[in-house]
Amino acid sequence: MANPVPTVDCTNPDCGISVDPSELTCPKCDTDLHNALSEQFYEIDVAHNGQTREEAKVEIEEGLNTALLYRFRGLKVIHGYGSGSGKRGAIAREATRFMETLAARKGYGFRQDGFNRGAHLIDFGQ
Ligand SMILES: [Zn+2]
Repeated sequence: MANPVPTVDCTNPDCGISVDPSELTCPKCDTDLHNALSEQFYEIDVAHNGQTREEAKVEIEEGLNTALLYRFRGLKVIHGYGSGSGKRGAIAREATRFMETLAARKGYGFRQDGFNRGAHLIDFGQ
């Protein structure tokens, strides 16, 4: 599944159009959107479309690139619960390990998404 390109609403309340966040300024009103996504996590789901473990890893790497490109705060990966013995449990465990490795290699923060055991965060700002 290709992840949809995220859009961001222009932060100017008198404008508010949806903008491709790779734009640094709003094409309509010229508001600076450089930090428009800097408090948000780009979210992907690697557990609910029958992905293989390899596909899940590719989606995580692509998600990380997208999150960096659009200057998000980080990447949120929904991987489901790792307690099961089936394929889904394997993906959750592997996705978590893979994220942890990526984060450690690049010096990003890595943690569970609050109380949600089915998702983890890579935080560029730690
Ligand atoms: Zn605008």
